[in-house]
Amino acid sequence: MEEQDFPYEFDPEKRKIAKVYSKQQLLIGLFQGILIPVSFLFVVYVSSFSQWLELSFFDILVNTPLHGYWLVAALYVVALMLIIFAIGLPLAFYAGYKLEHDYDLSNQSVGSWIKDQGKSLLVSLLITTPLITGVFFLGKTYPDKWWLYAGLALFVVTGVISNIAHLVLLPLFFNTEELKDDKLSERLKGLAEENGVTGVEKVIKVFASEKTEKANAGFAGMGKTKRIYLFDTLLNKFHEREVEGVVAHEMGHYVNRDVPRYILLEGLIIFPIFFLVNLLFTNWASFDNIYHLPLFLLILYGLYSIIDPITLAYSRHREREADTFALDAIGDPVPLISAFKRLSDIDLAEVNPRRSVEILFYSHPAPYKRIDMAREWLKKLSS
Ligand SMILES: [Zn+2]
Repeated sequence: MEEQDFPYEFDPEKRKIAKVYSKQQLLIGLFQGILIPVSFLFVVYVSSFSQWLELSFFDILVNTPLHGYWLVAALYVVALMLIIFAIGLPLAFYAGYKLEHDYDLSNQSVGSWIKDQGKSLLVSLLITTPLITGVFFLGKTYPDKWWLYAGLALFVVTGVISNIAHLVLLPLFFNTEELKDDKLSERLKGLAEENGVTGVEKVIKVFASEKTEKANAGFAGMGKTKRIYLFDTLLNKFHEREVEGVVAHEMGHYVNRDVPRYILLEGLIIFPIFFLVNLLFTNWASFDNIYHLPLFLLILYGLYSIIDPITLAYSRHREREADTFALDAIGDPVPLISAFKRLSDIDLAEVNPRRSVEILFYSHPAPYKRIDMAREWLKKLSS
């Protein structure tokens, strides 16, 4: 690791660029996350395309022994997802490749980007197809109680996926290596021990710089697979004391049991949402035909959008708690403040968004608020 200036101060030039970049990201997010999928599902459903698609698969399979509900439904889901993927591809390329290169944020080749898209598509097909087909099958078989069974199934699947994603999915997209036997990992282990953190199995270095300039860190897992992940971009570009601050924050998530908290929260949300979907969906449609899926998804999507600001607020609250833990653990706000500033400049993040933008989109408090909180922490300490 090369020696970095410390503490880091905002680069005014980067702040200007970040304003433009983050606005573009927000706009792209609106199109990718809301406008394109919602209008696509709406058009597919109100036109007869959805019905035609189901009927086509039925016609193809009708004279074979394979014409059951399951297979028609699964093929329909795969076809629908492939079409959504194809429609979103140009914008995905612009946002994920073109723009990132324009801002010098990406080191990825076109080939590698395409490969990643293929992998993401495959993973989402493998997870989503059985899930949706299963939910519709439950709806058809247990018209009154499906939402309970489906909620339970989804709760279990969410729990399993959030525990194994970092073991299965992360290595699919990044090379990783256990960080061991060097000065930094010794310091980090020391920090963990001082704060009574004994359950962290490994600190893993993620070779993200092959693809991106952006820095990140994360905590994942439960049971015997608790791990702290550090992007190599973080290790290469940040001062050792900043890395310590970031790791202390991640330890905060572990000590505060945030992974089980999120899984529990997801469980608490799924049941009332599926209950409401049951009331609304069965009013207009039925599970007998998979072509009603776009309507089902639109209702589900609408309900989750209403809940979203609440889960984001909860997430920002958990992030503040992890920051507080880090401040107490390090006993000094300077490394954290410095890390927030450097991270914002590297990622070209907006540090002071409008309150409405923060409420609707931010899973972490705005960086300037985290910096303020760290300063307040010091004031409280010295008073
Ligand atoms: Zn965090």
